[in-house]
Amino acid sequence: MKKFELYHFRKQFPLLQNTSSPRHDKNGKHSAIVYFDNAATTQKPQKVIDSQQDYYCHYNANVHRASHQLSSKATFAFENSRTLVQGFIGAHSIKEIIWTKGATESINIVVQSMARNTLRPGDEIVLCASEHHANIVPWQIVAQQTGALIKILPLTKQGYIDVTKLDNIITDKTKFVACAHISNVLGRINPVEKVIAKAKSVGAISLIDGAQAVAHLAIDVEALDCDFYVFSAHKMYGPTGIGVLYGKKEHLEAMPPYQGGGEMIKTVSFTQETTFNSLPFKFEAGTPNIAAVIAFGESINLLAPYLADINKGYHLYEQELLNYCYQALAKIAQVNFIVEGIPDIGVIAFTLTGHHNHDVATSLDTYGVAIRSGHHCAMPLMANLNIDGCLRVSLAAYNTMAEIDYFIDSINKFLLEPCLEQENPVEKGQLTSTPTNDMADILTLFAKTKGWDSRHREIMLLGKKLPRLEKAQRNDETIIAGCESLAWLSVEQDNQGLFSFTADSDAKIIRGLLVIVFAAFNNKTAQKIHDVDINDYFAELGLMQHLSPSRGNGVLAIVDKIKLLAKP
Ligand code: PLP
Repeated sequence: MKKFELYHFRKQFPLLQNTSSPRHDKNGKHSAIVYFDNAATTQKPQKVIDSQQDYYCHYNANVHRASHQLSSKATFAFENSRTLVQGFIGAHSIKEIIWTKGATESINIVVQSMARNTLRPGDEIVLCASEHHANIVPWQIVAQQTGALIKILPLTKQGYIDVTKLDNIITDKTKFVACAHISNVLGRINPVEKVIAKAKSVGAISLIDGAQAVAHLAIDVEALDCDFYVFSAHKMYGPTGIGVLYGKKEHLEAMPPYQGGGEMIKTVSFTQETTFNSLPFKFEAGTPNIAAVIAFGESINLLAPYLADINKGYHLYEQELLNYCYQALAKIAQVNFIVEGIPDIGVIAFTLTGHHNHDVATSLDTYGVAIRSGHHCAMPLMANLNIDGCLRVSLAAYNTMAEIDYFIDSINKFLLEPCLEQENPVEKGQLTSTPTNDMADILTLFAKTKGWDSRHREIMLLGKKLPRLEKAQRNDETIIAGCESLAWLSVEQDNQGLFSFTADSDAKIIRGLLVIVFAAFNNKTAQKIHDVDINDYFAELGLMQHLSPSRGNGVLAIVDKIKLLAKP
């Protein structure tokens, strides 16, 4: 048990130091980072950071294997973390705590080791409409492998699993029920007790994805009575690359190993059947992430006493932050919350009328505010809500009211920026042709900019120059796969073999990037298009680190499509 004091708590996170009072300086520049992307990953306290370093500096050795002191010390610290996790989630035995890479791998282990071996054609797997892809795709894969079917639990208007539908959807055909304890988009604490009880009543196995719950709720897997509970350390102030699969011992005993290798065996022979190690090691093939496991222990040492505090200081502070932020957002006329009502934890999803979520998030970034935009790895939920993405603010107990004030202030400033003024979804007729800048024009323009903030502004301004495509031109043939905000590209070739590209996106930032890309490729032959060294060009523009191929704005997907269309 530990009394929560914001100052003391926040002080432990080096990345947040000197940032307790964010503000704009006299030039309008931010002087702090406001980190509101905690549902993606939390910052790390000094003790977690030190603990990894201490292991590497003072007792780096492999665990379980050697008969020397270093290895004993490492093994002791490593297994101590397992005991800490056992206590943290109220598991019956340390044999029920399996180290994995994270929640994703934990789910995949259950799916491939248990579900794949037990599901028969026509059996049903029940998921919930707001699941993270990590708790959808592994089940889709196993459904394909076995002929099982997936059924979906719908949500109420407030974004909870609709318990009135449990009896219809979870039936004698159901073999597995998997859902999130807390949605990573809606911030709703799902009624998992009811879901687990219903699954049990039909003999189905329940798996609860606790990735978003462990930093906010005290978890008791025995009281929940779920069959499996999964989570990642990095969302609860611990290191990345380490997570937990909790499973009831009887299930883990019955499941075959997920991977083979060292550590997970008892005996190996070319002449007799190989035998496997006992739990939990049967599921821990190869050398584990020892440093991360040990450091994870430190994050549990930090968090567990706050979660156990009967005065609930930590919890109450998180609620205060949530209320303050939600009420402040609600006062902005353009804010639309994506479901009804205030969330249960500090995860608030919304859109801003007239502005694409990527434009908002990238603009807030120039104020030093880190929030997430996009589908949040919950594309089926976005489809269900009829949106292609949204903004998500996710708070942690080290955040402050001053940071929320600054964030709200930044949104209001963004809404007043002339270059970002609201626009109709598809304006047409104002501009009739794609701007004819070439690479030299763009390089000259960017040479005058200083830093990402002013480059971002130029890109947004360029975005205004790109004529919008007619609705009919935005179709399945022109859509660019891999671009996180929707984008469409079409091409024409004249009788001299020169290509000209036109494109559109709902995000102004993407349209600006399209103008930059077109400057490199338009009015060129296929050969010249393939000769362009786009990486050099982006590097010269200082854009490289902003163009991540998978998670970012997908500009490299646009380049790939251009090269594909311009066949030599
Ligand atoms: N489940 C939920 C609800 C999540 O929010 C996340 C990550 O955001 C995951 C699963 C996957 O976690 P990881 O990427 O750490 O495996």
